[in-house]
Amino acid sequence: MPKLLLTLLTLTAMISNTPANASGQSRRQRADRVDLLILGGTVVTMDSGRRVLADAGIAVKDGRIVAIDSRAAIRSRYSAPQTVNAQGKLLGPGLINGHTHIPMVLFRGLADDLDLQEWLTKYIFPAEAKNVTEEFVRVGTRLGLAEMIRGGTTTYCDMYYFENAIAEETEKAGVRGVLGETVIDFPVADNKTFAEALAYVERFVSRWKNNELIVPAIAPHAPYTVSEEHLKAARALSDRTGAPIVTHISETKREVDDSVKAKGASPVNYLERIGFLNEKVIAAHMVWPQDGETEILKRRHVGVVHNPQSNMKLASGVSPVPRMMQEGLLVGLGTDGAASNNDLSMWEEMDTAAKLHKVFTNDPKVISAEQAFALATIHGAEALHLEKEIGSLEVGKRADIVIIERDSLHQIPLYNIYSDLVYATKSTDVETVIINGRVVMRNRRLLTLNESAIKISARTFRERIAHSLSLPSTP
Ligand SMILES: [Zn+2]
Repeated sequence: MPKLLLTLLTLTAMISNTPANASGQSRRQRADRVDLLILGGTVVTMDSGRRVLADAGIAVKDGRIVAIDSRAAIRSRYSAPQTVNAQGKLLGPGLINGHTHIPMVLFRGLADDLDLQEWLTKYIFPAEAKNVTEEFVRVGTRLGLAEMIRGGTTTYCDMYYFENAIAEETEKAGVRGVLGETVIDFPVADNKTFAEALAYVERFVSRWKNNELIVPAIAPHAPYTVSEEHLKAARALSDRTGAPIVTHISETKREVDDSVKAKGASPVNYLERIGFLNEKVIAAHMVWPQDGETEILKRRHVGVVHNPQSNMKLASGVSPVPRMMQEGLLVGLGTDGAASNNDLSMWEEMDTAAKLHKVFTNDPKVISAEQAFALATIHGAEALHLEKEIGSLEVGKRADIVIIERDSLHQIPLYNIYSDLVYATKSTDVETVIINGRVVMRNRRLLTLNESAIKISARTFRERIAHSLSLPSTP
């Protein structure tokens, strides 16, 4: 060993062995107190410059990112009661699942390989009519939340029934949600009339309005299941309360054809005509926008959520996502309910989105890995109209952060971070998840949910559901 190096090593050893470390003491006294430090690792910021920072550090206070810098700079400037060591790992913004029906995880695999109409009317609607209770919703939500946290999803946009129970479970688990109570023109589990449903939404919105994690929303199911009068009432409630509107638009060709026949206009044109569209609307699917409709969506700042796996599974079609992105629409990504996916993995969804559009357009350059990652992060935030708060790792934003192991066989070797994230990383590679500054999973251990209890209650429900539909018991 060269003599100089040996001297340096000895000197370093002497310094770190200094008892009580007097210089460290004064450094800590000078440092700003924050709540949490994440030290080391490569940060994929997804900011406007798409900066990627090696050997970085992040300081978090009151649920927000207060500094991102080199690990050394963060260590010397800040101190915190809690530190997460992320050396050798990747850090990215929490993933945003732009469209789910979270309790439907309990219908995962109940009926597959069918088109939307048959799947909905013959299986899902009857199964819901017989089984959806507040308890069903709580059990399903806990299962879905655990799956999402394990997969690095920190925000989801939901529409279902008993959404108040979903909000309570979501807040307890420490997950962020834009949660919409579904209103639809037939009696459902929690509300028997539209007027009851609207009154429920009103109470729901006022209860959760200023919550740090929950954004309460109103969710008219679709323009073909909710009348014009009721769509206008939903819009009026949104105007009055500021609550977003979550809905499904133009999911199938049949929906478009029926709309033209019944209303004399395709769905987006119809919704524009009745004054429904604005910057509060989050529209899932948009598989079949007609001529001129994307221009309307852009002008009205409607958020659009692409659900490639659900659209593929139900053979609904391929949404023109590359064109909508080029035109500057706000496009995010979602899984849809697990009954039509059949999981809640945003890693799979990114991978599928990138590949589906390549094969569909015959152009491998049509969506890059970086663009696919943006769909699940910053673009996802834009589609939910939350881009000022989440979607990228930047000072001032909410501290929604995932830490990803990069040591799995399928991640080795690493040449390009976005390729690795989109085409190779899986939910099982997510190691630690932080939402609003709170660590909700650490070293793959869920800290806010009881995983084994969740599995037991979900399996119990499986038997109840099977019995209600005269299906055989667990194979
Ligand atoms: Zn849906």
